[in-house]
Amino acid sequence: MVVICQSVLDAIKAHGKAHKTVEVCGVFVGEVREMDGHQVTFATHIIIGEGATHQAGAVTFTADTWTHIQQTMDEQFAEKRIVGWYHTHPDFGIFLSEMDLFIHEQFFNLDWQIAYVYDPIRDEDGLFTWQDGKTLPGEFEIDDDTAEARMQEKLATIEHLQKWNKRMKLTLAVMIVFFFAAFGWWVVLPLVIHH
Ligand SMILES: [Zn+2]
Repeated sequence: MVVICQSVLDAIKAHGKAHKTVEVCGVFVGEVREMDGHQVTFATHIIIGEGATHQAGAVTFTADTWTHIQQTMDEQFAEKRIVGWYHTHPDFGIFLSEMDLFIHEQFFNLDWQIAYVYDPIRDEDGLFTWQDGKTLPGEFEIDDDTAEARMQEKLATIEHLQKWNKRMKLTLAVMIVFFFAAFGWWVVLPLVIHH
């Protein structure tokens, strides 16, 4: 499952529309979490691919692009991960070229990493995800920017329940021990006397 924040999509579209004659790219920043037994890729921010080259309908992450991305990760998103990448296809539609697949396989090959393509002229978009070792079109959910807050809240609730559960078990154990300490001899004594 993939969730992309509305603000992230807005930022990518703005980035693409500002450069309608060339391809632009960047990375998704976010988190990967287990929720209800599902792995969720959660894209909360982007880092624009500064210094990327675009020639002959292909976009390339250069060494400078990676330096910039790494610096931004360290400075602003130390607790987050690079969960994928995006790039634009001005007026040539949504697909992954051989070069795109090569980039995806080289740099974004973890099974939760995503590739997003946006066409700023046709205003179309599409997502690609790893499915059984292949990069195939996938689906994503758009969430507003309260999603992250809600996720934190949900996790806090789960944690709270787990703590409560632990405390209940401890209380029960103490009660059982207390019960036997207090009344156990009523049970044991007649047996001992009887024999
Ligand atoms: Zn492409």
